[in-house]
Amino acid sequence: MSFDTLGLAPVLLSALKKAGFSQPTKVQSSAIPMALEGHDLIVTAQTGSGKTAAFMLPALHKMATQKTKDKHPSVQMLVLTPTRELALQVAEAAKTYSDGLKDLRIATVVGGMPYGAQIKALSRRVDILVATPGRLIDHLQAKRVNLSKIHSLVLDEADRMLDMGFIDDIENIVAQTPNNRQTLMFSATFEGSVAKLAEEMLNEPQRISI
Ligand code: AMP
Repeated sequence: MSFDTLGLAPVLLSALKKAGFSQPTKVQSSAIPMALEGHDLIVTAQTGSGKTAAFMLPALHKMATQKTKDKHPSVQMLVLTPTRELALQVAEAAKTYSDGLKDLRIATVVGGMPYGAQIKALSRRVDILVATPGRLIDHLQAKRVNLSKIHSLVLDEADRMLDMGFIDDIENIVAQTPNNRQTLMFSATFEGSVAKLAEEMLNEPQRISI
């Protein structure tokens, strides 16, 4: 199987080639076509499975193919992660996969880092925001970021976010996003509290287990 058959924009295929990826991983070949069809997804997959590209590529495809680029002054995609380290990795991956997409801005907003650089980044246009829940709440309360126009929401490592006690923050954040967004949830496990969160936040989701 090659990436060419998944339906991704040529600019993304070039970025993947440049990154040295020749074949999609299992989670990528399952999730990408379904996400491109517009489904919400619950994906049970581990770190190392290639899950980051599985959620970044469909959202980047939307950004690459939309004709009204300059009509997007506010955030288009929000990725929530449990930790600063994971957020930084996701932002780095987003950079790699969006190589060739002009003018795409990626910002990272995480706890344990100074506010100054984050405030500065949020004062400019942001297309993709990668955040940990607690710090994002701070910025939302200060009205430094507007999530009312996002089309893609990703809850990465949802089980870990819940274990870390982020449920109220997640609910508060998601309430500020539009109902017509596409939501992809990734988790290593899918039991009680994760299933409940999915029920609350996803719309007729398809399930993928890797
Ligand atoms: P992830 O599970 O998203 O953290 O990805 C794990 C590692 O696999 C990262 O270092 C990615 O750069 C790499 N990776 C993801 N997809 C592919 C692919 N299709 N081919 C080769 N490496 C990949």
